Amino acid sequence: MIFFFLFNFNPLIWEMVNSCSQESIFYNVLRLQNFQTRYSLSESAFACANFLYNKLLAYRLDSVYFQTFLPNYSPNVIGIKRGANQLESIYVVLCAHYDAISSNPFLFAPGADDNGSGTSALLEVIRILSNYNFEKTIRFIFFSGEEEGLLGSYYYCSLAKYVYEDSIISAINIDMIGYSIEGRDSASIIGKPNNPNCQPLVDYFISCADTYTNLRCIRAIIDRPRSDHASFNRFGYIAIHIRENLNINNPYYHTNGDTIGGGFNDLNLVYEITKATIATIASLSNPISSNILPIAKKILYNKKKIENRNILYNPLGQRISYNVKKGRMYFLKERNQFKKLIILK
Ligand SMILES: [Zn+2]
Repeated sequence: MIFFFLFNFNPLIWEMVNSCSQESIFYNVLRLQNFQTRYSLSESAFACANFLYNKLLAYRLDSVYFQTFLPNYSPNVIGIKRGANQLESIYVVLCAHYDAISSNPFLFAPGADDNGSGTSALLEVIRILSNYNFEKTIRFIFFSGEEEGLLGSYYYCSLAKYVYEDSIISAINIDMIGYSIEGRDSASIIGKPNNPNCQPLVDYFISCADTYTNLRCIRAIIDRPRSDHASFNRFGYIAIHIRENLNINNPYYHTNGDTIGGGFNDLNLVYEITKATIATIASLSNPISSNILPIAKKILYNKKKIENRNILYNPLGQRISYNVKKGRMYFLKERNQFKKLIILK
């Protein structure tokens, strides 16, 4: 006998997923890389925390604050979107660490994949979900001190458990989602087999991905406490880790080469994972209504018009001089700014 996992299609969630923008994700990765280093103990990690804080304010979340966990370490940045049910200590978590590391971390630790990719995915999820109302409260958390041993998330979870006694419905941790090799552009959805049992959340994420996106998911029910989800698990909370295919190793991991075009080489994978994350967080939080005003139509250029221009850039910022393909996204540069283009024919 075959059992089907029934999953209701929700047009409101479909609208959210389709609002996701590769361009917006790309610019955020670029912005994060441009901090030069986001090493937790560096000055520019504090600058990055401010950048994230201001982004969350701009997206009009209900509450935005820093959580300092150790002196000299840049703080966690937390944004809360209140649910209509008014239950603030029962909530869904979406998190990513924004700090980075390399062999000379005070000088240069670009961390485009680890974890500029996850940080940018979170910013994009927040940009979109901020336009909707949900029944449940959602917390978006940018952790610091991950590379020094999950310090920021450990602090957050220990307080959540023993001081605030929060009920966390589910936590999703996004860490390293922008690297692939040919034929392996898929995501590993990693959940602990027991204490706590995270398998249902893994299956839930995969169902959302299957319903709303083209993402290929690999189900991994293993104990792999190598990122911030482990802090949630440690305090008994259900939390899973979303990352690029677990069976490939990013050769630029924790090096100066973790830049756009090096350690970060697959914008489309980040895009699909971000869409799946939007669908999962929205489904878990039960959307009620939309605040969106009618959106202005995109300006589409045709191929002939583009070919009259001389230099195009792909979403990785690389110059493309010929072989422009239908349906792909390219950019023009004007006064050092990228301008979006979508090619029709
Ligand atoms: Zn990481």
